[in-house]
Amino acid sequence: MTQEKKITVKKPAYLQNDKLADEIREIMKSKDKLFFNVMGSIGAGKTFLLERIAEKLTPHYRIFVINGDVATTIDADRIASKGATTVQINTGGGCHLNAKLIQNELDKINIDDYDIFFTENVGNLICPSAWDVGAQLDIVVVSITEGEYVIKKHPIIFKGAQIAVINKCDLDGLGFNSDTLVEDAKKIKSDMKVICTSAKQITGIDELIAALGIKI
Ligand code: MG
Ligand code: ZN
Repeated sequence: MTQEKKITVKKPAYLQNDKLADEIREIMKSKDKLFFNVMGSIGAGKTFLLERIAEKLTPHYRIFVINGDVATTIDADRIASKGATTVQINTGGGCHLNAKLIQNELDKINIDDYDIFFTENVGNLICPSAWDVGAQLDIVVVSITEGEYVIKKHPIIFKGAQIAVINKCDLDGLGFNSDTLVEDAKKIKSDMKVICTSAKQITGIDELIAALGIKI
């Protein structure tokens, strides 16, 4: 059986990051802003989901999305086309966002010009979990096409998140199955909110927005 390794000693870089992340959280809270960190694997549909979320929210709220990507501005451009303001951070090979990168972007804008903030973190299920970006809620997105073990194999990122999104659920029953993934997420964290979505068919998006505590 596999045994999860416990990190008992935190490196100073993490500690410094955590402190800055707490400061960002405090600023957002004091200004009554919402800030969500969207993590997930490559190809899970993070960008597509954020497009759907932006479509629903931008008639009511001013949305700012920080896209982390190793290269290109494709994702930021897609989300911007739905009425959100976006900024692309090209991490140049870096595989996660961190609090310093977020702070750099927030320093360039007036936070009061926006209501709700999102990241689209760099696509992978490993290291974004170790780097707090200062969000109020962490969301992990996987899709049912990633295989039945995708959640079991990445317990740490799910443990740190409050919401698990299983995307591409329009394929549920068509050779893919969401049941095991939902169970696995709840096994890792009994109070995890697990939401099945289809960005393609626009299902589960309202439920996800409600889970974020946003009223539309
Ligand atoms: Mg993307
Ligand atoms: Zn990384």
